[in-house]
Amino acid sequence: MPSALRVCIVVPCYNEEGVLAHTTDVLLAQLASMTANGACTSNSFICCVDDGSRDNTWNEIEALSRKHARIRGIKLSTNFGHQNALVAGLFSMRPEADVLITIDADLQDEVSVIDRMLEHHRQGKRVVYGVRKERGVDPLGKRLAARLFYSFMHRVNDRAIQGHADFRSADARVIADLERFGEANVYLRGIFPMIGYPSAVVEYTRKDRHAGGSKYGYGKLLSLAWQGVTSFTTAPLKMVFYTGIVMAVLALVLAMLALWALLTERTLQGWFSSTLIVLIFSAMNMISLGVIGEYVGKIYKEVKHRPRYIVERTTGDP
Ligand code: UDP
Ligand code: MG
Repeated sequence: MPSALRVCIVVPCYNEEGVLAHTTDVLLAQLASMTANGACTSNSFICCVDDGSRDNTWNEIEALSRKHARIRGIKLSTNFGHQNALVAGLFSMRPEADVLITIDADLQDEVSVIDRMLEHHRQGKRVVYGVRKERGVDPLGKRLAARLFYSFMHRVNDRAIQGHADFRSADARVIADLERFGEANVYLRGIFPMIGYPSAVVEYTRKDRHAGGSKYGYGKLLSLAWQGVTSFTTAPLKMVFYTGIVMAVLALVLAMLALWALLTERTLQGWFSSTLIVLIFSAMNMISLGVIGEYVGKIYKEVKHRPRYIVERTTGDP
């Protein structure tokens, strides 16, 4: 690694007109200070990815890019989601940078940590994960949900890094390897640890959102968790199988009970027991079908090989 690195900071933006000016100011200041102390080159830059925003985000990005030579932008043709927006920025900018950093537009992550990230890269690390020490500013419910989510993810994928979201840096080689992971259901937090190479962790305290509301409600968080599980393990399918076995044993016991009642000429409360059994088994069937369906759906999405993102235009286009 050369001592001064060409850095690209990728910022996914979905309806972020309210924060963009401030965010790019902070990131520009960070780049300026790193250029001054020789950590990054003078042609390091910021790439804002407009993920099909419905507000003024793209106009703002274009205006900022006219004002500052270090700001560039990519406009996706529609909303492809946070993960795909990150992929779009990383893949498009990979040929032009030594190290690519991803950070959310709301700057809840500590920008100054980038100094330490680059230090790790100079020392030969290829991926550096930003890890939140605490989520003191988030509501209690979200903190609990996050804790539960990360510990569950750790069980599912033991390489998952606790408290790490999408604030990370990786060198161009790692991004080139990432391009070979052609999955449509992309879940970057899980994939980067799978790529391997020497990596490091930098810790920071997470701050409050600067402006605008979170784009992740409990619903989206839950769906991200489900995505995380089903993208990395088929354990739920096994669970379905084991539940089936338990149910079969239960059914056998009930059958023996019924036989015993028949032989000793006792009567079982027929309606109640049979209805209950039907209910239990149809519920189990429904759940099992749902879980299997989730995987079939994923396969369906993968085999279509649809593009993960479509770039409509980039700043500087005529
Ligand atoms: N984002 C995006 N596409 C989406 C949703 C979100 O590019 O469909 C971006 C958003 O602009 C922000 C980042 O992803 O830069 C994380 O979103 P947010 O801050 O709302 O999530 P939270 O911090 O609450 O988890
Ligand atoms: Mg946020």
